[in-house]
Parts: sequence; structure tokens; C-alpha cells
Amino acid sequence: MNDPLVTRMRGFGTTIFAEMSTLALRTGSINLGQGFPDTDGPAAMLERAVSAIREGANQYPPGPGVPELRQAICAHHKDHYGLFFDPDGEILVTVGATEAVAAAILALCEPGDEVIAFEPYYDSYAASVALAGAVLRPVTLRPVEGRFTFDPAELRAAAGPRTRVVLVNSPHNPTGTVFTRAELDEIALLCQEHDLIAVTDEVYEHLTFDGVEHVPLATLPGMRERTVMTSSAGKTFSVTGWKTGWICGPAELVRAAQTVKQFLTFTAAAPWQLAVAHGLRHELDWVFRLRADLESKRDRLAAGLSAAGFEVYRPAGTYFVQTDIRPLGFTDGLALARELPSLAGVVAVPTQVFYARPERGRHFVRFAFCKRDEVIDEAVSRLARLGALS
Ligand SMILES: *Cc1c(COP(=O)(O)O)cnc(C)c1O
Repeated sequence: MNDPLVTRMRGFGTTIFAEMSTLALRTGSINLGQGFPDTDGPAAMLERAVSAIREGANQYPPGPGVPELRQAICAHHKDHYGLFFDPDGEILVTVGATEAVAAAILALCEPGDEVIAFEPYYDSYAASVALAGAVLRPVTLRPVEGRFTFDPAELRAAAGPRTRVVLVNSPHNPTGTVFTRAELDEIALLCQEHDLIAVTDEVYEHLTFDGVEHVPLATLPGMRERTVMTSSAGKTFSVTGWKTGWICGPAELVRAAQTVKQFLTFTAAAPWQLAVAHGLRHELDWVFRLRADLESKRDRLAAGLSAAGFEVYRPAGTYFVQTDIRPLGFTDGLALARELPSLAGVVAVPTQVFYARPERGRHFVRFAFCKRDEVIDEAVSRLARLGALS
């Protein structure tokens, strides 16, 4: 049989994560590829999920999400960002940020419309854009003085008459960049000049380091009314398996996304919603400890990677350290990632898979540090072998 997969999804076949995780298992390597923590979220929040099930929160919750969670999201955004949303109409609970972004793209883009995204980008973006029949216009983030940023002229050049949406992920996976106010100003200006809608992915909103603050694009002048703001509990509370996310925005944009979302999944699972409502209201101190912890893990891994010979870009947020492999004598991150298990017993992700134009990220490899200290230390001591090889 010919490939039964629709043409627009060809090329999205198997992800590098599956290949690398299989490789990690087969070779007994330490997996610093996929970004999920190896410790649990706040105990009382986990207990709340259990009690929610025991108390009978086991049937379809309301389409937009359980009221407790919608209210908790609004309270969180008011306290942290001074952003006011109406829990009835301006909040939609989704199956993770992945569904939030997908529903927004599918709801807002006609076939042929263009979506600007900063490459390297989270891999689901390109698939969502393809499913919508839309066209992705990548703007490349490049290292400048140790952090990845974009050229404002390239951003402006990416916008045209068919541009509909700008996808903005900050704190940014996989580069670790947290957009500055000046960078966000450029994006906001573009949105206003071209009448674009911003779809943001803020899943690492609380996981920033060195006192760097995450600024939501919706807080910039004129942006609240044109921003679909998405986030999720997965990264904030170390519960990536709960797949509980949300959209906040003006009612007409949220309604559009909900029109699509209701036919993707109808609603999101009920028990997690009640537990995440507890988390947002009562567990932010736990999150601040997680942030401090992650900052020291970042330092631990970054120091080890530098010592092993990588050029390291210190991230200001997220779970990931970005490295340049050329100082070690390697040129292709994909080839190195495939060899790394046998060379050093460690699995990482070749950053080129996150690019529309992979050649632009050929020499970068991404390592995750959301792991127990002893796991990071063991990975670092194994990677020290690499220097001896080159
Ligand atoms: C992990 C991650 C997501 C996925 O969030 P879910 O809530 O699990 O769907 C989305 N965007 C980025 C940038 C991520 O790193």
C-alpha cells in the first residue's frame, strides 16, 4: 500500500525523541534528551488529584474547564502579571499547552495563511501549522554574546499580506532565551502594524533563573486584545504526564479556539483540573523552590559540559542547555547524538530537528537538566571522556 498518511503530515513520521529514547534504553545510557523531570510535583497537589477521583470528579467537566481551575488561573494572572481575565468566557482549559496551541492555530488560520515562528521551535508547532494547511515562516534565533536572539529586520521581513499569527514561546525551548522587553516590543509592534494575532507558549513562565523575569506578551500596550496566551501545569508543577493546560485571551479568540477544541477532545480530564487549581492557589512556594533547584542544576550541567569541551549557552530559563559541538571537533549534531550513547553513555537531542532549515542548527545539541543531581553528575563524568577523544 502507498503511504496512507495525508501528504501534509508526511515528514512528521517518527520524532527524534522516540529514536533517542530507544537508543538510551538499548545502550543503558543516561537520557538527557527528553525534557521531563525525574521527581514528582508537590505532594498535596498529587493528593488532591487522588481525593478528586475518590470524591467523584469522574465525569465530563464543563467544556471550558472546571470553574475552580478557571478562577485559579485568573487569580494567578492578576497576582503575577496584573492581567485581568473573566473566568467565564476568557479562559479555556485544554489537554496541555500542545492542544492549546493546536486549537488556536486550527481556529485562526485559513489554508494558505502564514504563521511566523522563531526557529528552533517546539516540534508540535510545525505539525499544527501543517494540519491547518497554513504556511510556517521561520525567523531564526542565533547566538549573540552568549544568548539566542533574533534580528528585528528578519522578523519584519517575515511578515506579509498572508501573515495571520505570530507564535511566541518565551521562556524558549530549546534555546533557553527569555525574551527581553525590547524583543517583545519588536514583536508587539509587528502585530499591531500587520494586524496579527499572537499565540504565546508560556509553559516555562515560572522557570527562569538569575532573577530574570518572564514578561507575558499580553502585558504590553495594545497586546491583550490580540494575544492568545497559553500555558500548562506540566512544567510549573513537574507533572508533564497530567496534560493540563489553558488558553487565556479576549472572549472572541477564546471562543474560536474552543470551537475547535470541543471537537478535538471535547474537554480536559476532570481530576487533574481540580488538583491544578489547588496547585495554582497553594503551591507557588513549591514552584519557587523548584526554580532555585533548577538554577543550580543548570549550573551543574553547564559547568560539566564546558569542562567536557562543549561551548555552552547558559539558559535564562527552561529545562535545557544548548551547546555548540564544534570545539570538540564535531560538526553534525545528529551524527553526534546517534554516536553519543556509544562514545559516552549519554543521550541528547540534536537541535537541528527543531528547525525549518536544519542546516542552521547543524552544530547544536540540547541537553536537559531537569534531572536528579546524581544523574547529572554521572552524565557529566561520562561526557568528560569526549574531550579525551578529540
Ligand atoms: C513541554 C512543552 C510543551 C508541552 O506542554 P503540554 O502541557 O505537555 O502539552 C509545550 N511547549 C513547550 C515549549 C514545551 O517545552
